[in-house]
Amino acid sequence: MVTRLVLVLGDQLSPNLTALQKAEKDTDIIVMAEVADEASYVPHHPKKIAFIFAAMRKFADALRGDGWQVDYTKLDDPDNAGSITGELLRRAEQHDASGVIATEPGEWRLIEALQEMPLKLHMIADTHFIASHKEFEDWAEGRKELRMEWFYRDMRRKTGLLMDGDKPVEGKWNFDHDNRKPAPDDVDFNGPMQFTPDDTVEEVLDLVETRFGDNFGTLRPFWFATDTGQARRQLTHWVKHALPKFGDFQDAMLNDNRFLYHSIISFYINAGLLDPLEVCQQVEQAYKDGHAPINAAEGFIRQIIGWREYMRGIYFLEGPDYTSRNVLKHTRSLPSFFWDADTRMNCISKTVTQTRDEAYAHHIQRLMVTGNFALLAGIDPHEVHEWYLAVYADAYEWVEAPNVIGMSQFADGGIVGSKPYVSSGAYIDRMSDYCKSCAYKVKDKTGPDACPFNLLYWDFLIRHRDRFANNPRMGNMYRTWDRMDDPRKAAVLEDAQAFLSRMGSGESI
Ligand SMILES: Cc1cc2nc3c(=O)[nH]c(=O)nc-3n(C[C@H](O)[C@H](O)[C@H](O)COP(=O)(O)OP(=O)(O)OC[C@H]3O[C@@H](n4cnc5c(N)ncnc54)[C@H](O)[C@@H]3O)c2cc1C
Ligand code: SF4
Repeated sequence: MVTRLVLVLGDQLSPNLTALQKAEKDTDIIVMAEVADEASYVPHHPKKIAFIFAAMRKFADALRGDGWQVDYTKLDDPDNAGSITGELLRRAEQHDASGVIATEPGEWRLIEALQEMPLKLHMIADTHFIASHKEFEDWAEGRKELRMEWFYRDMRRKTGLLMDGDKPVEGKWNFDHDNRKPAPDDVDFNGPMQFTPDDTVEEVLDLVETRFGDNFGTLRPFWFATDTGQARRQLTHWVKHALPKFGDFQDAMLNDNRFLYHSIISFYINAGLLDPLEVCQQVEQAYKDGHAPINAAEGFIRQIIGWREYMRGIYFLEGPDYTSRNVLKHTRSLPSFFWDADTRMNCISKTVTQTRDEAYAHHIQRLMVTGNFALLAGIDPHEVHEWYLAVYADAYEWVEAPNVIGMSQFADGGIVGSKPYVSSGAYIDRMSDYCKSCAYKVKDKTGPDACPFNLLYWDFLIRHRDRFANNPRMGNMYRTWDRMDDPRKAAVLEDAQAFLSRMGSGESI
């Protein structure tokens, strides 16, 4: 009988994985491995590494319980070859295997490594997504602009989610307009379910502490779900208690509340523990039952079948060089406060501290606080990309890179966003309570206490005037600048330069 190896990666932890569907229980051997290469190509947050290893170990046990033979290599196994391909070669020799079945990884780096391996490879599409590569390519073909909204409508039609025949329910495709309420005084949701580590998780935590204890990020307390059962409990808990208000406060930020009404399920969907379509169907059901309003259900479903799928489509459409794009030619180094939170800018300090503690920040913190600052300050987008890839527990290149290189840093020249996501301090002030306890004054436009976002906002727009002045969505910004008197303009730009040079020289800012 011929033995084949079946590769299961740390973000492919689903019994419906295509590679498993193609395999034979009696003859094929599943290969799973915790390898140094994957754990250290960027300095991943310890919570992220622990989550993936713990979920892998539990998934391997579940597969064994289901009758599969699993060859599992732990990180500290003395025979560990240190890379996915090294482990496959080692196992292939051990079992005299004829080849490898793999579901396509979510990263060019790994796809290429598997293709270059001297073993017969059968790579199958990953069907844990709504759209195949071909569907996205067909949709993109011949379009001048790849706007998410049009793609999203196709995904609604394809899945039938929130559809009434061929029309969207309640007559509108998108209720985003209702989803921009500022931060509430009170949040009546206590955040995600917290799971006490069992023996498997504890063993992994000890290993991660020893091997990755010096990485940015707090390992304990560790509260993540690490199997599908737990992840489903978190989802159900959130649908019951938070979904109804998810839409309203989706963009809000608070000093003393890290999760607001967010679902905290990206870790689980991206690792394969939850199926994106099933998640959306559960949310749709809550809407049909009258439990959640349309702006909440539609807003959430759009994030998954719209944004999430669209980001993946862009990553694979654009190819392996996407992460090195830098159309704005930004070259500044990432300031140290992205690692130690040591800055007087309260919004950044709070976002980085939360990221360090939880390996999580929600969308607007990522986009309009850290991302906005990096873009305004002209930080090298590749450094920004590596930071995001390292610090968030849901970060895999297929989803992280289009969000960072595209949406947040405009380094792809406008493929993902028709204009850069930049704002002065006023936006952060409107959507959060950060400014109230900040050393800088959000109302000051110049001077020693002026909010740095106010200074850098204009500096950015003026630096890139040639590129953006004719963008119809940005004309107002330039008209506002042009109406300012010359001494004021000079003061803004001078203060911005002074700020950037203090930042560059490592001064505390
Ligand atoms: C600069 C930047 C970097 C990001 N990096 C990542 C990343 O590495 N991995 C990641 O999964 N998401 C990333 N996102 C998207 C988003 O911030 C996270 O998906 C979200 O914060 C996860 O938290 P949640 O589960 O509570 O999401 P919710 O706010 O509850 O949203 C529900 C779900 O929608 C999906 N979703 C929402 N927005 C996006 C989006 N823009 N792209 C893809 N999926 C989305 C996620 O699966 C999420 O779980 C990034 C966004 C920005 C602006
Ligand atoms: S004043 Fe500026 S730096 Fe301070 S919290 Fe507000 S936006 Fe951030």
